[in-house]
Amino acid sequence: MGVREEARTVENLNPYDIAQQQFDTAARYVADLPEGLRGWLRGTVRLLKVEFPIECDDGTVKIFSGYRALHSRVRGPGKGGIRYHPEVNADEVRALASWMTWKCAVADIPFGGAKGGVICDPKQLSRNELRKVTRRFITELGDSIGPHTDIPAPDVNTNAETMAWIYDTYDMMHAGKNNLPVVTGKPVAMGGSLGRNEATARGCLFVTRRAIEEGAVPGLNSLKGATVAIQGFGNAGSIAARLFAEAGAKVIGVSDSTGGVTSDAGIDPKLALAHKKQSGSVVGLAETKNITNDELLHLKCDILIPAAFENQIRNDNVAGVRAKVIAEAANGPTTPSADAALFDRGIPVIPDILANSGGVTVSYFEWVQNIENEHWSEDHVNEHLREKMEAATDAVLQMQIEIKDRHGENVDLRTAAFALAIKRVASVALVRGIWP
Ligand code: NAD
Repeated sequence: MGVREEARTVENLNPYDIAQQQFDTAARYVADLPEGLRGWLRGTVRLLKVEFPIECDDGTVKIFSGYRALHSRVRGPGKGGIRYHPEVNADEVRALASWMTWKCAVADIPFGGAKGGVICDPKQLSRNELRKVTRRFITELGDSIGPHTDIPAPDVNTNAETMAWIYDTYDMMHAGKNNLPVVTGKPVAMGGSLGRNEATARGCLFVTRRAIEEGAVPGLNSLKGATVAIQGFGNAGSIAARLFAEAGAKVIGVSDSTGGVTSDAGIDPKLALAHKKQSGSVVGLAETKNITNDELLHLKCDILIPAAFENQIRNDNVAGVRAKVIAEAANGPTTPSADAALFDRGIPVIPDILANSGGVTVSYFEWVQNIENEHWSEDHVNEHLREKMEAATDAVLQMQIEIKDRHGENVDLRTAAFALAIKRVASVALVRGIWP
């Protein structure tokens, strides 16, 4: 490999470096951003690391490490999911926390950004062990989380049951108060919101449809009949498959950690889910062809939805992408150099901080319902979500135009979304004044 070729393919995949690079790219378009404030918004307010033991089912004691990062509370309490995965690390958590701040600002909900995770492989732990990990982790975080300070939610490998354990643990430590708003994504029977489970995918649908209708995707005028490939078949991905199909699109490829499948005739998302539940994987689904994950990313389709992890579309595989638009249901799936390559080819990327902001938006609705002791209907939740997502999409597209008008530069949607978010957060920081 020649030197030039090597330089082209070697990429810094550290998510925190990437998040800061994205911030720097956009911050230059935000007028009147004082230097010190810029530095503060670029960093992390607080990073906690905890280590704790649990007694496993076989009687042995295992030590686990977990993190909780708070990026900003300028616009409201910290908000962000908790992830269980062997590769959780401080920089990943700090990156995800900062993306939460920008996401909440783009969606215009009164939260800041936070994120947490425990280094573990949930596939190797029993339900009983996972409950112990959750309870002990939350106990160690103590009063650094709270209904008006920092509010967790589900993320990779955590779900409504995990959130119920978080609530229960916090409630044991703070008896006698309405503690329901300490965590969102709870089971509906105990204060969860109708529509929260589908919210990330539904928000992705609303945002993508709006962007298409607004003419932001060259060569694609409607979701109806559009072909869709989805990487990742968990909460975000499998529900996106169902909702996009219900909206008239045709799902032609799906994948999970074990591989993928494709069918030109279209994949029925319900059958794919049933097959995954029964066999543990989408691979081998009847009347489909097995493909690798890289092949899925390279399928010829209208809409590509990465819904798994960070750094999936990179310098080394971006050239093979043949979609007309990428809608990032996952956080951080596209690296900066892949972003640049896609922009050069005229393929818009609807960035994570817009495309997956439906999850935190309905988390906000859940928090409001908990505080007010209310229970909204699913239609009410979905209608409010649609309004929020369309307004956020319009605001990002408008910012893209404003940057062009003011600076004479064409920027991608990620830069426009970051600039909008930084402007919103900075204006609140300045009006509050720097403490003390
Ligand atoms: P999940 O654990 O429910 O699903 C993750 C899926 O990705 C699984 O199907 C897994 O098999 C698959 N996967 C793992 N590695 C893969 C690979 N190399 N190739 C293809 N598939 C792979 O998690 P989730 O909650 O759906 O989260 C997925 C992404 O969406 C994450 O980036 C998360 O941060 C983001 N997100 C989730 C929410 C939410 O409400 N759940 C909200 C916003 C953003």
